[in-house]
Amino acid sequence: MMSYELERRIAVEAVARASRLCQEVQRELVAGSSLSKDDKSPVTVADFGAQAVVSHTLAEALPDVPLVGEEDARALREPENEELRGKVVAAAQRGLAGLSEAEVLDLIDRGTYEGGGSGRHWTLDPIDGTKGFLRLDQYAVALALIEDGELVLGALGCPNLPVRADEPDGARGCLFISIRGQGSFMRSLDGGEEKAIHVSDIQRASEASLCESVEAAHSSQSDTARVAEVLGLTAPPFRIDSQCKYAAVARGDASIYLRLPTRKDYEEKIWDHAAGSMVVSEAGGRITDVDGKPLDFSIGRTLRDNTGVVVTNGHVHDEVVAAVKQVLGREG
Ligand code: AMP
Ligand code: MG
Repeated sequence: MMSYELERRIAVEAVARASRLCQEVQRELVAGSSLSKDDKSPVTVADFGAQAVVSHTLAEALPDVPLVGEEDARALREPENEELRGKVVAAAQRGLAGLSEAEVLDLIDRGTYEGGGSGRHWTLDPIDGTKGFLRLDQYAVALALIEDGELVLGALGCPNLPVRADEPDGARGCLFISIRGQGSFMRSLDGGEEKAIHVSDIQRASEASLCESVEAAHSSQSDTARVAEVLGLTAPPFRIDSQCKYAAVARGDASIYLRLPTRKDYEEKIWDHAAGSMVVSEAGGRITDVDGKPLDFSIGRTLRDNTGVVVTNGHVHDEVVAAVKQVLGREG
């Protein structure tokens, strides 16, 4: 079995660097400066900047492994976006002194690979949960490695996630890292020792706690409420942005994460699920779509052969999928 030592080291470094960049931009957001409330540019700057930083770290170590990233630099190259472009380049240069504007844009554009089922590629969501970022709430830097269509590594930076779920006002900032067959680990984003994490031990769905998106447009909250009722869940669902939901299931803060479709034609993106899935499966949990099918990361940039996502601690999975099928009318 491969150890993935190099891949692990650079994935951790890339995610830690990008997370720091995001934290810095967010600190400036807090400091106020001259930003108006509905100005989305801070998240845009951090998003592109983070993709440039991750892309650079990966390309230095493994130049031949392509990247499926959420962002590309096409809009940034437009003459009318000169001001935004300048800010993105400046943000990226903080992490990577000495890069030119052209180099930063090219690094971002490394993310345009089409993905698929042969060879290896990375997939990156530089800021998953942009709305959470702007709310100064939860967001994640999500990076995964896919080999011949299968997940082999997931690295998830959660800069605002409390290190301990039972101490919500305590230290924040977590980094999760998982390699296929090696388990899932968490450490503080600032460094320190890695600790193995495991899903909850809950055996019956009625005792589970459930998490879902904050955004009703991303997951049907009404269908989730009906599933919770069928399962006899007593605890109210908790809503957090981004793949922090996967992290919550992986370390046992929650036992179920449901993402139920809000419309028929939406295709989930691989970068929204790859890193999180890896972290949960190596922590002992299970991930399928609403029909109980495994997520198929081998067909390109989206999960077009899957519908929605069901994540659990494993023990309650069949029970949850049955309830989801019943509520969505998908039996048979
Ligand atoms: P979350 O923070 O869990 O609400 O997920 C954020 C992600 O939702 C973003 O990265 C988007 O790629 C994704 N997204 C956007 N529109 C939809 C949709 N209609 N259904 C599901 N996910 C979506
Ligand atoms: Mg995303």
